[in-house]
Amino acid sequence: MTNATAATTTPASNFIRNAVDEDNRTGKWDGRVETRFPPEPNGYLHYGHAKSICLNFGLAESYGGVCHLRFDDTNPEKESQEYVDSIIAAVRWLGFDWKQHLYFASDYFDIMYACAESLVKAGKAYVDSQSADEMRARRGTLTEAGIDSPYRTRSAEENLDLLRRMRAGEFPDGAHVLRAKIGMDSPNINMRDPAIYRIRRATHHRTGDKWCIYPMYTFAHPIEDAIENVTHSICTLEFEDQRPFYEWLLETLADAGHFPRPLPRQIEFARLNLTYVVLSKRKLIQLVEGGHVGGWNDPRMPTLSGARRRGFTPEGFRLFAERIGVAKADSWIDMSVLEECMREHLNDAAPRRIAVLDPLKLIITNYAEGTSELCQAPNHPLAPEWGLRDMPFGRELWIEREDFMETPVKGFRRLYPGNTVRLRYGFVVKCTGCEKDAAGNLTAVLAEYFPDSKSGTPGADHYKVKGNLHWVSATHAYTAEVRLYERLFAVPHPDARREDDAEGVEHDFIADLNPASIRVVEARLEPALRAAHPEDRFQFERHGYFIADRFDSAEGAPVFNRTVTLKASWTKNEGGKA
Ligand code: ATP
Ligand code: MG
Repeated sequence: MTNATAATTTPASNFIRNAVDEDNRTGKWDGRVETRFPPEPNGYLHYGHAKSICLNFGLAESYGGVCHLRFDDTNPEKESQEYVDSIIAAVRWLGFDWKQHLYFASDYFDIMYACAESLVKAGKAYVDSQSADEMRARRGTLTEAGIDSPYRTRSAEENLDLLRRMRAGEFPDGAHVLRAKIGMDSPNINMRDPAIYRIRRATHHRTGDKWCIYPMYTFAHPIEDAIENVTHSICTLEFEDQRPFYEWLLETLADAGHFPRPLPRQIEFARLNLTYVVLSKRKLIQLVEGGHVGGWNDPRMPTLSGARRRGFTPEGFRLFAERIGVAKADSWIDMSVLEECMREHLNDAAPRRIAVLDPLKLIITNYAEGTSELCQAPNHPLAPEWGLRDMPFGRELWIEREDFMETPVKGFRRLYPGNTVRLRYGFVVKCTGCEKDAAGNLTAVLAEYFPDSKSGTPGADHYKVKGNLHWVSATHAYTAEVRLYERLFAVPHPDARREDDAEGVEHDFIADLNPASIRVVEARLEPALRAAHPEDRFQFERHGYFIADRFDSAEGAPVFNRTVTLKASWTKNEGGKA
């Protein structure tokens, strides 16, 4: 068995590993490496999250540290337990272990609130009573400073009183916000007195109605990291401009004795951008709610639950993460890179089976009616230890419709009257003609077999043929639903703006869906496939890698999803040895 991909080799160095190495060299954390993967439970995880998970858990793993799974559940209106459960299942499926480090930001609401009071008391936060519009109008621009709020000079006592009354529910939503007091003239807009608490009457999926004020993400996140003693807080590039606030907040709170030093350090990396999909929970929700897919775990969805159903593998994702690496600048990765990683793993891991997806009857006219015999095929061409399986052969077989041409085109090497081919793992047959119905439609191909040509028997090699076809015995075949998936979108950049998009309107990515992203066929499969269990994976020779659907398969009646096609086309292999 080739094992080039299954075992992770030493990870390549990158700027994040260099930063960790440097901290270990200086002894900053006494060699401790503690990272976290901090999803917001407002949707299912997507392929992009896999990059972040592999990075955070992988880093911890390779430095003997730990990675926390922390739910950043500070925005109750969009979050739910269903999403929490799906995220836990996805991280586990990828094969990572957070040990006892499962955390929820909502468990820290008391501490966060205490931090807010402490900022107020120190004169580093104030209650602003401007409307959202007024605040926006005074925010300034990239080139102009902002303007101080008229409420900025409230005394610490007044601010503390107002904050406590905000918490007690005395004011309607939006009446006040708590803002950090840093400076409206900062060149970094994120430092112009960012909001840190808002009033929002929303029932939280964990804390219920305990709170009517909720911390803003930019305030909550650094505190979560500090509470958990995270060493390296790795996030995507869009948070780079937030880093000064991250540092200001934790330094200020450390000065006030809330957290010990050294403080967690934020490091940004470029998010995964992948062609032919959208990687944004907001857009994925639209696909689900608009009924454009069969749900979050539709095999075409770029979610991890969709990937699992599609037959993608955790090993394939890890290989992908390693191969694309981490960088400091945004770039695009082609979907074919991910597909190739899946193929590489599946090529090693998937036993071979035979499936006829577009069946046409082949009748061996000189084979005795009512009889059959067994042929043998290897479970994996490169793994003899995986053994052989039996494939019954008989008078009536199924072959692919495209493997026969009554009048062959130039270069066609498969079945046509007068031509001889090998039925892979079976016999050599010579095509003698075909049958048609009254309307002239092809109903069966006729052939005669050579009894001394059985694969694996002495003398079988004397037959020199160019074509080599797969087949399934018609009397023994297992007829099953097989879903053939194509890419979900028809264009490489479904969320990019186009020239003809109206000004100020977001591009309608729904219009870019691929209408041919799923095709369902009634296939004829070799009998051994009847016993496949949900999530068993196979290579159907010539057709690609398939998985027994984990939800729609019944005991003894699996249905299959195509994960990905084979890279090499059949035509190139056609002349291969039986
Ligand atoms: P989305 O835009 O899909 O809502 P998000 O960043 O808001 O994604 P979170 O739940 O906040 O989703 O993300 C959890 C972690 O995953 C964050 O650290 C985030 O930076 C990371 N992440 C999200 N999308 C990607 C991506 N495309 N590539 C790499 N990491 C990502
Ligand atoms: Mg988000």
